[in-house]
Amino acid sequence: MPVETDALIHHLEEKERKEGALPQLLKLYQQLLRVQSGVEQKIASRIEPSLSREAISQRIQDGIPLIGFDELALDWPLLAATFAKITTACAEHSEIFKVPPERLRELKTESFPNREAIKAWYEKQKLPATALIRGIDRNFLTAIIHATLKPFLVSHAKTLIGSVDQERWRRSYCPICGGSPDFAYLDEEKGSRWLLCSRCDTEWLFQRLQCPFCDTQDQNALAYFTDDEGRYRLYVCEHCKHYLKTIDLRQAKDEVLLPLERLYSLDLDRQAREQGYLTYNKATKIPGQSPRTRRTRKN
Ligand SMILES: [Zn+2]
Ligand SMILES: [Zn+2]
Repeated sequence: MPVETDALIHHLEEKERKEGALPQLLKLYQQLLRVQSGVEQKIASRIEPSLSREAISQRIQDGIPLIGFDELALDWPLLAATFAKITTACAEHSEIFKVPPERLRELKTESFPNREAIKAWYEKQKLPATALIRGIDRNFLTAIIHATLKPFLVSHAKTLIGSVDQERWRRSYCPICGGSPDFAYLDEEKGSRWLLCSRCDTEWLFQRLQCPFCDTQDQNALAYFTDDEGRYRLYVCEHCKHYLKTIDLRQAKDEVLLPLERLYSLDLDRQAREQGYLTYNKATKIPGQSPRTRRTRKN
């Protein structure tokens, strides 16, 4: 089961108490989690599963994620208010983003991305020009949209994940929202590999001997690096040049909170990039959505 947002907040509070202060990135993450937790609490009782058991089974069969954009019950005023809170939190830590804090403070509700922009983000397409804001980097805007939508996605995921037959899905994108994986773990029981959705934190089962980005099963193209303790693995694919950070729960003796592991293992991202590998592909094609070109290497 995905980690509860409040468990992450609690963990960071404990860490802060023990260590006196949190590094700036974790401090910001803690603030974002508090905003997101508040939203989750507000909408928890309002979200009901919109699909019958048969419809869910059919989608799993066809490889269609359980929430299409039009099925997301979005409360737009709440979304706009969340966007404002997220940008305020980011403005307090603007050094992280290399964006002037005044620009971030101006971002607030007036420039809240329109429906078209949110839909484009959800369907993994390029943000429309109308959504772009002068002086704000596209990647940064994408990150803010992600942080804003996250509690809505997480709340939907909670109502649906229990209905997903993991053995029948095994695809390279999230069964709930269609997002790409950005982290994985090997489970304690059998060392099976589970992927973690970069957008809604849903976990799903995926074969170890296949690349979750280009689907190749060519064993000559697949490899992994490991650290001295064997805690982390960095899966790489020579076919598409993507990498996937993974934690081996058979080796990790302490409590592991996956969403935090993304941040605790940032050095692995650095190492992967230095060796020429790319982070997850945001443009994986999903059945039922319009075709688009694959993201290619930019830097
Ligand atoms: Zn997802
Ligand atoms: Zn690949």
